[in-house]
Amino acid sequence: MPEVIIIGAGVVGTSIAYHLAKQSCRDVLVLEKNYIGSGSTGKCAGGIRQQFSAEINIRLSMESVSFFANFEEETGADAGFRQHGYLILATSEEELEAFRGNVERQRQLGLEVELISAKEAGELVPGLNVGDVLGATFCPTDGYADPYSVVSAFAACARRLGVRISEETEVTGIELVRDRLKRVVTTKGKFEAPVLVNAAGAHAGVIGRMVGLEIPIRPSRRHLFVTEPMSFPRRNLPMVVDFHNGFWFRPEGSCLIFGMRSPLEPEGFSTSVDWGFFADILAPAASQRLPRLKETGIMRGQAGLHADTPDCLAILGEAPGVAGFYLACGFSGHGFMHSPAVGRLMAELIVTGKSSLPQADALSLDRFQRKTQTAESAYI
Ligand SMILES: Cc1cc2nc3c(=O)[nH]c(=O)nc-3n(C[C@H](O)[C@H](O)[C@H](O)COP(=O)(O)OP(=O)(O)OC[C@H]3O[C@@H](n4cnc5c(N)ncnc54)[C@H](O)[C@@H]3O)c2cc1C
Repeated sequence: MPEVIIIGAGVVGTSIAYHLAKQSCRDVLVLEKNYIGSGSTGKCAGGIRQQFSAEINIRLSMESVSFFANFEEETGADAGFRQHGYLILATSEEELEAFRGNVERQRQLGLEVELISAKEAGELVPGLNVGDVLGATFCPTDGYADPYSVVSAFAACARRLGVRISEETEVTGIELVRDRLKRVVTTKGKFEAPVLVNAAGAHAGVIGRMVGLEIPIRPSRRHLFVTEPMSFPRRNLPMVVDFHNGFWFRPEGSCLIFGMRSPLEPEGFSTSVDWGFFADILAPAASQRLPRLKETGIMRGQAGLHADTPDCLAILGEAPGVAGFYLACGFSGHGFMHSPAVGRLMAELIVTGKSSLPQADALSLDRFQRKTQTAESAYI
């Protein structure tokens, strides 16, 4: 019988498995219904930023950035981590005011980040239309990495330390005896362990319902489009984010990748590409911000799932009412960037029952019952 079963071999499940094994908890079984990285991880933009409003998110990001910076030494693999920064644009006085508060909090926590003028933003990204921009924030140690390299490295390192990862193994039920875990039922048989971790990404709510637990996660589609190869004035362009509508872009090899949240996207599990959204909403926003995109062809589009919570903060820790059932879900678009710190934190909670990360209880499921909850407002 394994000590821990993890549902989901995305970047979060594999990071937890690796960090558990590093903390000498090696009898770990990861159950994955498709293959490693086949969920949102394989569809994500790979952005890694530390510019958040909530202290807990800033801390998770700062720890993760240190991990990504040493990724090769830690795992032996190249994550493709580029610290070319994140440039976040404000187009209203309210946004600028909020950015000032965020920068102050980020600096208090030791982050190197600046509030810059529209002109300076335009100099960082030649061709950017800053006509309506009132100011921006820039953090040079933010950046991006390759999600597939990262999840493969976590999985390979975990396996080297003894973790078993069973692909094409779907969890279809969880048996309880009173309020204790008994068995995990899968398409490849039944498994038992005293600890079960729900790292099922956008499907974490479905897994929660198997033990009678409502986890407030809203799954919804997010798109990513890839341009044809284009020439760039500089190779080290930052990730650029238009804060008011969530339009973002960054270089990927010789192409640009870009996307945007849709105000009309319903809750659901669809991952088909909505070309109507592209034509009517995304393309106008993209060509307004980066006019040369009007003349650039699109090679492909894809869509994956976000798993958003009401306060845009993740849900981490043991679930109330079901002993041994741990949650690592609801990442609200930040799961890739936070995966190193989340893996370490979850392993620590499982092995020692305590967390060394200040304010970690801000992420517990029962926070939704408390009135003191602080939401993440720098949500993209
Ligand atoms: C277009 C797009 C852009 C994004 N950009 C960024 C970004 O720039 N930076 C960032 O940090 N995040 C970004 N995200 C969010 C990021 O992708 C997620 O937060 C992250 O991948 C979550 O990882 P995960 O391991 O929790 O989930 P997943 O990668 O979805 O892994 C969960 C796994 O669980 C498996 N599973 C589900 N149900 C079962 C079951 N019943 N039995 C067995 N296995 C099961 C799934 O197959 C899946 O492989 C983006 C997302 C999208 C869609």
